[in-house]
Amino acid sequence: GRYSDLPERFPSIAHFHSVRLNQPASKFYNTDFLKSLCDLWNYRGSGMLNLHGSTGDIILLGTTTEQLEPIFFEVTHVMDQDIGGSGSNLRTPSCCIGKARCEWALYDTQEMCYEMTNYYQDELHRPAFPYKFKFKFDGCPNGCVASIARSDMSFIGTWRDDIRIDQAAVQAYINGEYAPNAGAHAGKDWGKFDIKKEVLDLCPTKCMWMEGGELKIDNAECT
Ligand code: SF4
Repeated sequence: GRYSDLPERFPSIAHFHSVRLNQPASKFYNTDFLKSLCDLWNYRGSGMLNLHGSTGDIILLGTTTEQLEPIFFEVTHVMDQDIGGSGSNLRTPSCCIGKARCEWALYDTQEMCYEMTNYYQDELHRPAFPYKFKFKFDGCPNGCVASIARSDMSFIGTWRDDIRIDQAAVQAYINGEYAPNAGAHAGKDWGKFDIKKEVLDLCPTKCMWMEGGELKIDNAECT
């Protein structure tokens, strides 16, 4: 909650509370929901929204104390939307778009975010910590929700076993049967595909090499 120190001089912002709503996993909305949210906030608040805060929540900016309970009731009972975490508690967990739309997802980030949000409801809604605490779920090391930088406990999808190599496909690339980069640069003649120059030497940890005509990968060194 926020109150002005000078309510007589600035009566229209004597109160300026923010409300956090728990965003849906990966921030998928339909237009009905967004219209209801805008109507609610035009009626009971300033009409200004922040989609989204760095925690991930939908943030409704600016309302007065007497509006808080009606907003809570409308959001939770009519719109089926929970409030988010704020203050010294577990903040609203958030996840990348994951396997809903991303080919790199190595686990179901939305499912995990949903489970953890439900499991830790008390910690989310009743501040009991000395400081805020955040979970974030990245489906792979590309880190689209920046879980390392922006949370206290990051969950990042990674390989569970050794990388599997289709040696026949590697040979097909080397022999020119498959277009390099899926044909993305086919408009220009770049010369013959060079696995050393175009793949092996580009690895920052130099974890790959050719041996006896086969591609080898030192799994522990793979980034
Ligand atoms: S973190 Fe990985 S899985 Fe998640 S959206 Fe980004 S690239 Fe896709």
